[in-house]
Amino acid sequence: MTDKPLGFDTLAVHAGAEPDPATGARQIPIYQSTSYVFKDADHAARLFNLEEVGFIYSRLTNPTVMALANRVVALEGGAGGIACSSGHAAQIMALFPLMGPGCNIVSSSRLYGGTITQFSQTIRRFGWSASFVDTDDLDAVEAAIDENTRAIFCETIANPGGYVTDIAALAEIADRNGLPLIVDNTTATPWLCKPIEHGATLVVHSATKYLTGNGTVTGGIVVDSGKFDWSRNDKFPSLSQPEPAYHGLTFASLGEMAFTFHSIAIGLRDLGMTMNPQGAHYTLMGIETLGLRMERHVKNARQVAEWLEKDPRIEQVTYAGLESSPYYERAKTVVPKGAGALFTVAVKGGYDACVKLVDSLKLLSHVANLGDTRSLIIHPASTTHRQLEAEQQVKAGAEPNVVRLSIGIEEAEDIIADLDQALTAATS
Ligand SMILES: *Cc1c(COP(=O)(O)O)cnc(C)c1O
Repeated sequence: MTDKPLGFDTLAVHAGAEPDPATGARQIPIYQSTSYVFKDADHAARLFNLEEVGFIYSRLTNPTVMALANRVVALEGGAGGIACSSGHAAQIMALFPLMGPGCNIVSSSRLYGGTITQFSQTIRRFGWSASFVDTDDLDAVEAAIDENTRAIFCETIANPGGYVTDIAALAEIADRNGLPLIVDNTTATPWLCKPIEHGATLVVHSATKYLTGNGTVTGGIVVDSGKFDWSRNDKFPSLSQPEPAYHGLTFASLGEMAFTFHSIAIGLRDLGMTMNPQGAHYTLMGIETLGLRMERHVKNARQVAEWLEKDPRIEQVTYAGLESSPYYERAKTVVPKGAGALFTVAVKGGYDACVKLVDSLKLLSHVANLGDTRSLIIHPASTTHRQLEAEQQVKAGAEPNVVRLSIGIEEAEDIIADLDQALTAATS
């Protein structure tokens, strides 16, 4: 062995796990246990004081769940991280150490629909708020920051609309204002983009999607780069000052593990949005093939998008991997291996044609999910976005004539053949 860092696919199979020290089991066992026997009272005291790392209770840490968190940390190039119960939980867990009543985040307006609701409605119950800006307008991002701002939030590849974020430009603004940049890397995965290399402080994932990969588990991950100095200003007292919720410990004194230990010792302890070991096991299995799957997802997506763009029954395809996309050039620097496998298609014939299209497909499933090995489709205007006003639908990229595709790892010809027959049924 040399000191050369291990490659992505090697880490995807090995990182975070080793043969089980008790049994030699090669695959990481599902440690279906809520608690762990202390060696003696002194050992217990050292664990509770965070002087020694170990397992206490599975709401905080569990060996299977920790293996998963550490595997994603390795793939993202972070210092530490946690796994939790869903992507939405991960977002709250990422914000929790940074925020307090009256604090706000500046967020991209192009987000997963559920995140827009979480940020515009639900976090207000905590006294937090979000202002939404077009992150292509860097002056608008800068202008939205005020003295109560505690983070900037964006997604690497945001749907709908095949939008690719200039992470480095946002990281520069965040850094200049003494703020962390949080990037939701769900739709890109670390195989396509490692946001920390572009300057992100924290990376969040819905592990429900590509990481698990086959639509079996809801889960979330937070990865911390370990690079942000929480004491550089007075904005983050829960990290930089003695924290009364953990007998006066100043988490910043833990160096690059400050954020991770805060997330475990206070976030998971008191919010309890914990991942279960069974779920972590499925996600670990999924990650072993992440690189293989993403390669095929991206290859298929490009092939299907190119075919659709040429089809006379289609008005427009918004995929950043197509030369017609305004984000084609940016995609080459942010996601050089491909622009993901998620895009929207505007169908001639409007709402009725879209409804007929989703009803006529045989291979593609009509579901509210993405990042599955199976190809998926949804018509936002008749489902996830049906409660919105017409104007809101347009703003969200969910016009009545738009369907969203999540291209799977089947044979591209079979996906195309299914779309072809369904488009014929829908537009004839
Ligand atoms: C699905 C998704 C989420 C939410 O994740 P859940 O696991 O469903 O809670 C957040 N961000 C993006 C980009 C997603 O696709």
